[in-house]
Amino acid sequence: HHAPLPSSVQPVFDTVLQRNPHEPEFQQAVHEVLEAIAPVVEVQPELARDGILERLVEPERQIMFRVPWLDDAGTVRVNRGYRVQFSSVLGPYKGGLRFHPTVNLSIVKFLGFEQIFKNALTGQGIGGAKGGSDFDPHGRSDAEIMRFCQSFMNELYRHLGEHTDVPAGDIGVGAREIGYLFGQYRKITNRHESGMFTGKGVQWGGAEVRTEATGYGAVFFAQEMLAVAGDSLEGKRVAVSGSGNVATYAIEKAYQLGATPITASDSSGTIVDEDGIDLAVLKQVKEIDRRRISAYLDHRPRATFIEGGRPWRTAVDVAIPSATQNELDGDDARALVDSGVRVVVEGANMPSTPEAVDAFRAAGVLFGPGKAANAGGVATSALEMSQNASRQRWGFADSENKLREIMKNVHDAAFAAAERYGHPGDYVVGANAAGFERVARAMLA
Ligand code: GLU
Repeated sequence: HHAPLPSSVQPVFDTVLQRNPHEPEFQQAVHEVLEAIAPVVEVQPELARDGILERLVEPERQIMFRVPWLDDAGTVRVNRGYRVQFSSVLGPYKGGLRFHPTVNLSIVKFLGFEQIFKNALTGQGIGGAKGGSDFDPHGRSDAEIMRFCQSFMNELYRHLGEHTDVPAGDIGVGAREIGYLFGQYRKITNRHESGMFTGKGVQWGGAEVRTEATGYGAVFFAQEMLAVAGDSLEGKRVAVSGSGNVATYAIEKAYQLGATPITASDSSGTIVDEDGIDLAVLKQVKEIDRRRISAYLDHRPRATFIEGGRPWRTAVDVAIPSATQNELDGDDARALVDSGVRVVVEGANMPSTPEAVDAFRAAGVLFGPGKAANAGGVATSALEMSQNASRQRWGFADSENKLREIMKNVHDAAFAAAERYGHPGDYVVGANAAGFERVARAMLA
């Protein structure tokens, strides 16, 4: 069911299919990258010599481990832990940890593979990795989360280090989990090694704006794309999916730039608030109370809740899918196009299916793929590493300005590469090409 690729890259993909037969998400991510970099390889065949592509699609190291932990009833539970260290050619392995029942090797590999090019695009000297567990934090007590995190780190610590591999959060891993994970690493190793984890609390080595960075960055990316087209976010209606860090701070920044975000969602359904999402209520329900999103209605009875639904059938100018992979399919994309969507930026990793991406590109929608549009999170992680290494702490405004500048650079690098390879305005080609060039040159060197 994968579309045929140019002959310059098809053999590499065939090997991936053969070697990873039960990994649909990983196959999907590799397919997209290979398709997008084919024009690079055709113009500069030296970037694919010495088996560079074959080497790129095979992780440098894959770690899978048992995570036993005790629940509150005293029963031993067992989950599986993962860390896929994909590429260290540009710097220490870098990428988040995801705790979610859907986590498996395919998911971790797709995320780790994406992370290579995303991290390269930031220009910050970080390699690509991802990890996590099929542990479901939902409904677990603080004590259970703590025991799980400690057990997870009892194995993972030996593979980490500020110059080796630096995790951060992702779905299901926020400030609380990072506190437990970092604390256990510190106890095991007897080292307060700040730079071995990012997304730490600002009181103990964390960076200002890291929490906000992915969401803010995605909106900055949309702003850059619109600016090239002579437009802005002012007065735009925005649909956001998700209600975690990415969605929450995409909503916050969209408001600050004069747009009106009208949706938010979780796996139970979608809130549509035509008056604009009440950010304080959203934060209360999701961050503080940790409830399902329908609880938003308790505070805002005029909003509507679409049970089990997603935000893509609401007429908007801008869509920011910020929940999870493949949450926006071909039909959703066509519905958005038909109702006049102008800009789509991916706050999540690979939220649009290949069919959806094709529909957006065919319709001339400004489409910012995740590896460019959501790079603000990991870029700010790299700023956190810099602050830790130099024992400094930068202020909020300063950090936000750095993030804005990085997102402009990411945008400009993707935009320029798209032009250079004959696909002007195609940020999918541009982001992948610009990231790949940096990684391939470093591998060759
Ligand atoms: N999980 C985030 C991502 O998908 C951030 C990773 C990091 O900061 O290392 O890029």
